[in-house]
Amino acid sequence: RVVCVTGASGFIASWLVKLLLQRGYTVKATVRNLNDPKKVVHLKALEGADERLHLVQADLIEDGSFDSVVDGCEGVFHTASPVLFSTSDPQAELIEPAVKGTLNILRSCSKVTSVRRVVVTSSMASVLFNDIPKGPDVVVDETWFSDPAFCEETKYWYPLSKTLAEKAAWKFAEENGIDLVVMQPGLVLGPLLQPTLNWSSEAILDMIKGKEVFPSYRFVDVRDVAYAHIMAFENPSASGRYCLVGNTLSHPKTLQVLDKLYPSLNIPVINATDNPIYQVSKKKAESLGIKFMPLEVSFKDTFESLKEKNFLT
Ligand code: NDP
Repeated sequence: RVVCVTGASGFIASWLVKLLLQRGYTVKATVRNLNDPKKVVHLKALEGADERLHLVQADLIEDGSFDSVVDGCEGVFHTASPVLFSTSDPQAELIEPAVKGTLNILRSCSKVTSVRRVVVTSSMASVLFNDIPKGPDVVVDETWFSDPAFCEETKYWYPLSKTLAEKAAWKFAEENGIDLVVMQPGLVLGPLLQPTLNWSSEAILDMIKGKEVFPSYRFVDVRDVAYAHIMAFENPSASGRYCLVGNTLSHPKTLQVLDKLYPSLNIPVINATDNPIYQVSKKKAESLGIKFMPLEVSFKDTFESLKEKNFLT
């Protein structure tokens, strides 16, 4: 069985490729730059890669660059999208690659007969950014959508890019008869396979230093996210969107958990009033067979990995 993963060098995609190879799939993995060892060495080293991993260079915004890649694939996992929170040109750096890239891939899928389902990696950023009041009694679920006008007003450009890309994906899929399933991970942590730091792993390093990245976090382990993508493809009854959040914690509470696990790091614990949080429904994800990893295990594995790669001394 042949599948395609876009943005394969990334944090989530590398785990997805690893699990797919483990499950016996042949994987066509697209990367932006085949000549950059940092983007491919870890993929080539995966078990089964010699026999069943095919690396292909493809750019998100180049029309037709995915046509030949998706041809012959039964499933397409579209994970590639820029992840950045500070930008001077949101249109060029975030919105265009996210929206155009997603449509580009879906268009390629619509031209071939082999693709049975497309799984797109969206985000909780495409769920939560609206003016609906949130509090401890609020349970966010898959019916929620971020509001582009709200994102624009508040200059939340990354959420805007993910929301517009997802909305465009649903519209295209509906108009072109594509079986689309969308994943909405929260803040992804867990061990790194790639040699470089991705945004969310960097955010964990910032938290250790006491920096409030967000007032509250929606954590999910990268291995749960990768597995959920595969379940979303393999399970015929999977449909619609899936919120992927194992634990919701305020910033102060997160620091307390981290300090308990790693007292030697001298994490600047805040004893101030807790920031308000809300819950994210696990029901739909659990119906896919996802059993979210305990947060302590995710943190420990993240730390071990960051230490091993010399990002944490
Ligand atoms: P990474 O930054 O590790 O991976 C992003 C991938 O997208 C990289 O492979 C990158 O390629 C590729 N990419 C970015 N811009 C372009 C472009 N213009 N053309 C081609 N490829 C591009 O991030 P993650 O693994 O964390 O993110 C993967 C997906 O998951 C994204 O869609 C992100 O929005 C989503 N997500 C991530 C969360 C997180 O906390 N990490 C949370 C929720 C959703 P290159 O390596 O060449 O830069």
